Amino acid sequence: MRLRLDEARARLTLTYPRRMSRRVALEWAGRQREWVEGQLAQLLPGEPLCPGATIPLEGRTVRLYWEEALPRAPLLSGDQLSCGGPAAAFAGRVERFLRGLARVRLSEATALVAERAGVTVRSVSVGDASSRWGSCSASGAIRFNWRLILAPPHLLDWVVAHEVAHRRHMDHGPAFRTLEAQLYGGSVSAARAELRALGPRLKRVGRAL
Ligand SMILES: [Zn+2]
Repeated sequence: MRLRLDEARARLTLTYPRRMSRRVALEWAGRQREWVEGQLAQLLPGEPLCPGATIPLEGRTVRLYWEEALPRAPLLSGDQLSCGGPAAAFAGRVERFLRGLARVRLSEATALVAERAGVTVRSVSVGDASSRWGSCSASGAIRFNWRLILAPPHLLDWVVAHEVAHRRHMDHGPAFRTLEAQLYGGSVSAARAELRALGPRLKRVGRAL
């Protein structure tokens, strides 16, 4: 039997063998209360995308603003992201805008780094994988987590350098690490540590719980 906490979605999952009764499994889960409470205590609060909230964006702090009469397409101006239309659609519009911005920034950065590395990239897409910031397939399709747009730009640059370096080396060996450091141009270990520390918060942005 296994209890697992999905931190990004604040969801607890109980897995038990098919032949075991649900009652026995739930009794077992009930005895894991101490573990569950410990996990929940560490969970960061959700940061829903609602008017008045502030979110991290490309190393800045941006305030979300809503006024029904404003255009429905979100507009980023200075440190304010404003959007009009029905209040119920606000969070969805803002998230789609952020995902779109992430796709643009990540595509631009990937094209630049790929050119410097002398490699080709077949496609760049964004998603919301909970465990990885980026991935690169053998055929050259690179996929990023859209939440990188919430991080300071140098962290986005590091993940881009990492995935582009995989276009030459599909492992994490010495040759890969040398190319990754060269393409990034900064301290890879510092960037990795920074993103690891910041990651849990970035994954809570746009979550209600
Ligand atoms: Zn890798």
